[in-house]
Amino acid sequence: MSTPRPFPGDVVADRADAEFWHACRSRRYLVFRCTTCGHTVWPAGSCPRHGMAGMVWAEASGRGRLHSWTVVHQRYATSFADPPPNVAVVELDEGPLVHSTVVGAERLELRMRLEVAFTEIGPDVVIPVFRPAGGTPDTLAV
Ligand SMILES: [Zn+2]
Repeated sequence: MSTPRPFPGDVVADRADAEFWHACRSRRYLVFRCTTCGHTVWPAGSCPRHGMAGMVWAEASGRGRLHSWTVVHQRYATSFADPPPNVAVVELDEGPLVHSTVVGAERLELRMRLEVAFTEIGPDVVIPVFRPAGGTPDTLAV
């Protein structure tokens, strides 16, 4: 059995997504947006049509729907008091798919509406998680 590692957010200062993690400390959720066409990506990357020119961090709604999830049975980071009950893929309303965890849900349902919440897991280390936003699940796009 391997030893859990410290949370990798301890070294965000030199990372391309440092602004995202700093915004989380202020309970703001950001995506990387193309100023030419509005396309959003996460993690920070380039627009498929316009490349890196004009890509900026922009405030996101913090809302989306559950795209997929799996249950976690092993603790991977020592910063978490308890292992997260799930690792979820959330489809943000802005488009990108992001990895996170869903908290405060009795059960998970495909396409359920979610909203971001923030959890402080250490000094100056705040991570985004998602919680049920209420309402009925979105229908699957065909
Ligand atoms: Zn673009």
